[in-house]
Amino acid sequence: MFEKISDPTEVRLAQGHIPIRHRYTPGVAGTLFFAGLKRGEFPASRCETCGITYCPNRIFCERCFSALEADTAVGPRGVLESFTIGYLDVEDAPLDEPVTLGLVRLEGADTVLLHRLVDADETLEIGMRVEAVFEAKSRRVGSINDLRGFRPADR
Ligand SMILES: [Zn+2]
Repeated sequence: MFEKISDPTEVRLAQGHIPIRHRYTPGVAGTLFFAGLKRGEFPASRCETCGITYCPNRIFCERCFSALEADTAVGPRGVLESFTIGYLDVEDAPLDEPVTLGLVRLEGADTVLLHRLVDADETLEIGMRVEAVFEAKSRRVGSINDLRGFRPADR
């Protein structure tokens, strides 16, 4: 059973399926962030030592490892730092509709947030101003999908 294989041509293949279940737990910082989205806010953490404001909020600074709190809020407007359009799902199957994703640096933040771009068209440009689009308050459940995405601002 514990044979050592030194010739890669001797590797055997066993095909089959392994059922895997998982549950995503957002952790301390993620729980606070999603609660903020439910309120229509973007919780953030400021590291005074490094002069960096993180959004989503963090429990520690990724540069100096100082403990951080969700002690500020940023947005709801920001700048589109990058974007891409997806035509395939994770299984390489064509999507019914392409999905446009963007990296948005919210006002007051030094980091970016990845989310959908909604009401977006061919006028997307890196550096353009965008604004958050939240679900109706009655439909928010405390998840990343409480934020529908970002749309071009100042239209
Ligand atoms: Zn720091």
